[in-house]
Amino acid sequence: MLKSPEQYVESLRALKIRAYVGGEQVDSIVDHPAIAPHINTVAKTYELAHMPEHQDVMTTISHLTGERVHRYTHIFRSADDLVKKIQMLRLLGQTTGTCFQRCVGLDALNALYAITYDIDQGEGTDYHERFKRYLRKVQAQDLMLAGAMTDPKGHRAKRPSEQEDPDQFVRVVKRLSEGVVIRGAKLHNTGGINSHEVLVMPGTGLRPEEADYAIACAVPADAEGVLFIFGRQSNDSRKLEGGCDIGNPRFGVVGGEAMVVFDDVFVPNDRVFMAGETQYCGTLVNYFATWHRANYGGCKGGNADVLIGATAKMTKILGTERNAVVRDKLVEMIHMNETTYASAIGASAMGTPLPCGSYMVEPMMANTVKQNITRNVYQIGRLSHDLAGGFLATMPDQRAIENPEISEYVKKYHTANPEYDVMERIRMGRYIENMTSVTTMVEAMHGAGSPQAQRIAMLGQAAIDEKIEMAERVVNGDDDVEGLPLPGKREG
Ligand SMILES: Cc1cc2nc3c(=O)[nH]c(=O)nc-3n(C[C@H](O)[C@H](O)[C@H](O)COP(=O)(O)OP(=O)(O)OC[C@H]3O[C@@H](n4cnc5c(N)ncnc54)[C@H](O)[C@@H]3O)c2cc1C
Repeated sequence: MLKSPEQYVESLRALKIRAYVGGEQVDSIVDHPAIAPHINTVAKTYELAHMPEHQDVMTTISHLTGERVHRYTHIFRSADDLVKKIQMLRLLGQTTGTCFQRCVGLDALNALYAITYDIDQGEGTDYHERFKRYLRKVQAQDLMLAGAMTDPKGHRAKRPSEQEDPDQFVRVVKRLSEGVVIRGAKLHNTGGINSHEVLVMPGTGLRPEEADYAIACAVPADAEGVLFIFGRQSNDSRKLEGGCDIGNPRFGVVGGEAMVVFDDVFVPNDRVFMAGETQYCGTLVNYFATWHRANYGGCKGGNADVLIGATAKMTKILGTERNAVVRDKLVEMIHMNETTYASAIGASAMGTPLPCGSYMVEPMMANTVKQNITRNVYQIGRLSHDLAGGFLATMPDQRAIENPEISEYVKKYHTANPEYDVMERIRMGRYIENMTSVTTMVEAMHGAGSPQAQRIAMLGQAAIDEKIEMAERVVNGDDDVEGLPLPGKREG
């Protein structure tokens, strides 16, 4: 079944999610104005799946049931599936101009599909069949899933088992015949507050004595003991004010992140997909992170398309659009954007099968995508600030425009090219301000792992010794064909 946007909203309304916004518990997340923009963004993922022109990228056929399902609940079965995912992300980024939140759950779903297969092969367990039963439900109900990997982590130089507070990483505190009880928290949870379920995964490699931390499971968002505490975003209170200062009027800034607390939550066995198999945690993190890092070339590509559009419009409003230097700066923005998109498509097209039959992106390219995102998104934002001008930081607000004593001054002295309404300049400027805010930039920096995490992965995959051998072969010329008249052949 493909949920409609309305069904998504109504299904959230039916959940009794314990959520806190601005320090206060909210009665209904669906009706809260701080959460509504994020719900609207996710609703677009449901809406586009019903449009015939987007069916090919937004939906696919389940390999489990043969039914048409949302691509956000699909297991990547081919390199083409991986490419289509990136195309879907760019489309959604272009449509919403922000984060649409369902990617973490999708990659978590795929990581759990793959790791449950691996664990069963190595340990003779039956996690994979259990997981497939869960996946059938996710596909049948077209669920919105959040992915929760990042633990609070406490003292960064200490392992989970060495922390003064053992709850700094989510752990099993009780094992029962019918399931487990988990305690801890996950931070930065994208879309968690407006999801149906949260997929919990360990966030680091673990040692055998850390078995209680090796827990992967699916927890309904309204399970007993689960609570969400909403984060603040740059300019979030403007959403409540409305008017021209809002930036992106319908959709959120990044993914409406929350911290999710598991205060002794019971998880029944049929929702547990790893419980103590520490030797598989590193691989699970790696599966998830590698898929997730490639995504950024798609979603941030779509977001940057909108930002580049807003910036180009601003040059028209300012009357600078024909200037060669200005045009070259737009080209620079486009170049950086297309570079990361091309790498994401490349990583996907070069995907290879895993033992479970699903497809993994090419890891070096996937990590390179995300490493470039930590720079290019800032650089694109920098050029947007450059071209849009200082008014981004100084323009008066909606209240000034509404005050008849000063409104005409504001409008008169902010009018640039008179062909364009001054309010258009202000609205575009506010969108640029929002989409280049700290919240947005930090997402590009840290989402899918900090830049350091990618560099560690890249060094591991770079096969530097093989590169040294390549250099030696070229420089020494040892494999030259005898008798060919090669210039520059070195003697001795
Ligand atoms: C907007 C946003 C959305 C997110 N969504 C999700 C989500 O949905 N689900 C989820 O699970 N996670 C999510 N994350 C979390 C994200 O994966 C983490 O922020 C990221 O992994 C970095 O972890 P941290 O923030 O705890 O950084 P910290 O651990 O606090 O590290 C901060 C910095 O310290 C340095 N550092 C730390 N350890 C080392 C080391 N070993 N070697 C060298 N330097 C080091 C690095 O410079 C690092 O960037 C999200 C993050 C953001 C910002």
